[in-house]
Amino acid sequence: MTLSLTLVQGAYIVAGLLFILALAGLSRHETARGGNRFGIIGMAIALVVTVLAATGGVDAAPLGAGGADREGSGWVGLLLVVVAMGIGAVIGLDRAKKVEMTGMPELIAMLHSFVGLAAVLVGWNSSYEETQYPAIHDVEVMVGVFIGAVTFTGSIVAFLKLSARIKSSPLMLPFRNWINLGAIVAFVVLTLVYVLLPADSVALRASILGLVTVIALALGWHLVASIGGGDMPVVVSMLNSYSGWAAAAAGFLLGNDLLIITGALVGSSGAYLSYIMCRAMNRSFFSVIAGGFGVEGGTVSDEVDYGEHREITAEGAAELLTSARSVVITPGYGMAVAQAQYPVAELTRQLRERGVDVTFAIHPVAGRLPGHMNVLLAEAHVPYDIVLEMDEVNDDLKDVDVVLVIGANDTVNPAASEDPTSPIAGMPVIRVWEAGHVIVFKRSMATGYAGVQNPLFFRENSQMLFGDAKDRVEDIIRAL
Ligand code: NDP
Repeated sequence: MTLSLTLVQGAYIVAGLLFILALAGLSRHETARGGNRFGIIGMAIALVVTVLAATGGVDAAPLGAGGADREGSGWVGLLLVVVAMGIGAVIGLDRAKKVEMTGMPELIAMLHSFVGLAAVLVGWNSSYEETQYPAIHDVEVMVGVFIGAVTFTGSIVAFLKLSARIKSSPLMLPFRNWINLGAIVAFVVLTLVYVLLPADSVALRASILGLVTVIALALGWHLVASIGGGDMPVVVSMLNSYSGWAAAAAGFLLGNDLLIITGALVGSSGAYLSYIMCRAMNRSFFSVIAGGFGVEGGTVSDEVDYGEHREITAEGAAELLTSARSVVITPGYGMAVAQAQYPVAELTRQLRERGVDVTFAIHPVAGRLPGHMNVLLAEAHVPYDIVLEMDEVNDDLKDVDVVLVIGANDTVNPAASEDPTSPIAGMPVIRVWEAGHVIVFKRSMATGYAGVQNPLFFRENSQMLFGDAKDRVEDIIRAL
């Protein structure tokens, strides 16, 4: 079926608007579901129209001289696309159903790598096409392949680090900033040579494109490998941004306006999120996107003697909680691992019924992806108005009777503000140690994601409640 160009462009504008509404909706808890729906409808329209236009062809007649007719690939093309989409959909649905909430960042990193790979393949394919403006097209090919390849390997390293298949500590190669700079200079020079070479030097042009692909693959690997565990949240959103720009570059090569718009939306919103997260973690945005530029990596010392830690039982914790006037709960990755959000919501309900003022303090990078804790608490129906951000709580913590640290570690580590040699030095943390009593729920004295010991556990007002967070919270509810 041949579609009219007006219909295709109209559908793309509607889909683009739905994507903007989706982003707006996703920025608040209350509207996030609606935002997701807009995104799904927009993507469904985009997919159907793009596939029909690519296979049935586009008739530019209604627009007159402004547009050019495009031939479709016919039924065989449609069949191939439907089969490929079917296989992808089955694998995607299966993965999405099985993935635990704690495995989401790895899955997202893996999906970003596919976008990068797709941009590389589109770039290579387009490099053999003849176009009206060869110089512009050559630059598009080079940029698309470069961003795609950086995204591809960068996302694979992020996947490996997040799933603990490789160490999360930063790779500190000598002259690493010069290596990165050299790769970018080589890319610019090779792009110039590629543009200046005549179109019939097919083998030479392919070799240069191959060389740029290899350089970009190595650069992506090195950029993310050089970034330490504590900065991984920013890397995840930064790769999200790169995958958007890679998609936009593919949109230019394929002449698909909607892919350009969607790629730019993802690219710019990902970049803005990275910037907000850098600010929240007191990291330099430039330093993180340049693969840890100017960061000397901090030291982890096992030799410091922090003293003895104290333990508390669930009954002891219940007693402290019932006699408290105000309680703050700071959840972290361990709450997600234990799936403790449901008993935590129940404990909150029971304490509030007894007149205790309960609030939640959420660190911007608690858990393993932005907003991780907020999603879990919303899932367990904790009221939004008692879920506060770190900055809204920090100044009042000295007046709080009891803080429950549930499976959080790096995000409540006083070393971040007190030890300038710590790998997480400078990262703002929730100052739980200022409260009257702190009860830390975890299974052992092991370190958190950044691999640093937490002096909080040894403070006089801290007590450890060891075991799985879900079991321990349930024990407290029974003891109340
Ligand atoms: P951490 O990873 O620092 O600490 C989690 C704690 O939970 C551990 O100390 C662990 O101790 C405990 N824990 C694990 N399982 C359980 C369980 N079943 N029951 C009870 N406790 C448990 O988490 P935070 O949320 O405090 O900090 C997040 C860290 O992750 C930061 O370093 C951040 O930079 C990083 N990060 C964040 C991302 C994001 O986008 N938010 C993305 C990638 C990384 P034990 O093993 O002893 O039980």
